[in-house]
Amino acid sequence: MPELPEVETVKRTLNELILNKTIDHVTVQLPRIIQKPDDVVKFSALLENRTFQKVERRGKFLRFILDDLVLLSHLRMEGRYGVFQNDEPVEKHTHVIFHFTDGTDLRYKDVRQFGTMHLFEPGEEFLQPPLHKLGLEPLESTFTYEAFVERLKKRKTKIKPLLLNQEIVVGLGNIYVDEALFLAKIHPEQTVVQLKDSELKKLYDAIIITLQNAVDAGGSSIKSYVNGQGEMGMFQHQLKIYGRKSEPCYDCGTIIERTVVGGRGTHFCPNCQLAK
Ligand SMILES: [Zn+2]
Repeated sequence: MPELPEVETVKRTLNELILNKTIDHVTVQLPRIIQKPDDVVKFSALLENRTFQKVERRGKFLRFILDDLVLLSHLRMEGRYGVFQNDEPVEKHTHVIFHFTDGTDLRYKDVRQFGTMHLFEPGEEFLQPPLHKLGLEPLESTFTYEAFVERLKKRKTKIKPLLLNQEIVVGLGNIYVDEALFLAKIHPEQTVVQLKDSELKKLYDAIIITLQNAVDAGGSSIKSYVNGQGEMGMFQHQLKIYGRKSEPCYDCGTIIERTVVGGRGTHFCPNCQLAK
């Protein structure tokens, strides 16, 4: 599943590919991708003759800014966008096609079919689902240590599920939570009350470093076909803990373990990340 760095990479790539392109018409092959409005004919009609001004990101959502309209898109497991000439064959599992007036298409492909799209009037998207309860953006200046701690305190669950909770901090998924906890030397099953201020500060820094490094790695990989899932492959060589079960820890040589925390497969070093 794409996490913040992958969605950020898709966002940057789309900004290279579709800005100032005007939609002639839209084809929807799989109506359930379209969550709002609940009528695909209306969805398509609203998008006609609109021009893509900018692509932004909120958490793991892409925000396509058009003239007087905002399209929200969540890639979920395997959603991906590609830009093609309109006479190129349409690949299987392509569910939504934005046909541009310049003879190119923006195509949305999603093998698992879990992705979603919503249309809003500008600004309205922040006031209602799915964005209205989203938490802090970890790579923006609003993500201060004080704001982070404020959101965590009084929570009694383990730290890993808290970091996955998009109402606290957005954009972290299973991979980067494991990476951030490893960098901060915190066991994924610790609770917030067990953590000292110095540990929380380390965790705060680790979240920013982990995500920024991944964004920097992905940001250099602009290409014509963007793939939220596939982009992750390029970061895998940088992962220090995730997916490394039974391999030695890079820091201390101890064998990395895999457990399940809050229903999610979790990797940690039993020596670097001691349970209290
Ligand atoms: Zn270790």
